[in-house]
Amino acid sequence: MKKKIVIGNWKMNFQMDEAINFIIDLKEGLGDCTTVLCVPYPYLSLSQELVDDRIAIGAQNVCQFEKGAYTGEISASMLQSLGTEYVIVGHSERRSFFNETDAMVNAKVLLALEHDLCPIICIGENLAQRESNDFLPFLKNQLLAAFKNVAANDLASCIVAYEPIWAIGTGKQANLLQIKEVHAFLKNELIVAFGEQNAEKIQIIYGGSVKAAQAKELFSLPEVEGALVGSASLDAKEFIQIIKAS
Ligand code: PEP
Repeated sequence: MKKKIVIGNWKMNFQMDEAINFIIDLKEGLGDCTTVLCVPYPYLSLSQELVDDRIAIGAQNVCQFEKGAYTGEISASMLQSLGTEYVIVGHSERRSFFNETDAMVNAKVLLALEHDLCPIICIGENLAQRESNDFLPFLKNQLLAAFKNVAANDLASCIVAYEPIWAIGTGKQANLLQIKEVHAFLKNELIVAFGEQNAEKIQIIYGGSVKAAQAKELFSLPEVEGALVGSASLDAKEFIQIIKAS
């Protein structure tokens, strides 16, 4: 069985001193567990210097273009040159607030892979889609669009995060049956598209109001191969408990 992965997403939170203190606390409480922290761009280098080999650093976004006149953007090769190992791609907040399309997400995935970054590819339905019961075909489209032109043997270097939008930052985690159903569905779609051997290598993780109190239950599902944690990754104690539950 693969080791479950817990990834923290700080989003646009923490001043520099808070970021430093968090990493110090995390290192103290982590024991022999490992984790990934996706920090804001300005803290990438600093975080990289502060962590040890139990903590990998990730970015929260990457530009869909390789290089050039794109003021304010950060390229995959820049992230690679800083020692960044992971990058979140297609988070629902980027899709909704910054109009990221499936094609942009796909371009980001391809560039991340080209630069040895592991893309954490977020997909998820909104509440209206969930309630209309038409969410599985929607998720299939989002998934396959993100993986367009990805080589089958690159699947091992990708992570898919199922993040139902209605569960993000709402305190309302999807229930275990809902999570199980979608994870099994996504794995099956990847098997159909890329073959069993390749699809088995990808980790499908859950994100959406993951808290320490429910973490054990969540990780008891074999279909859940890790978690993407937003709000609870801002509290070192809570985050450590989630990591330990995995
Ligand atoms: C997220 O933003 O990826 C997320 C899962 O947030 P939260 O844990 O706060 O729901």
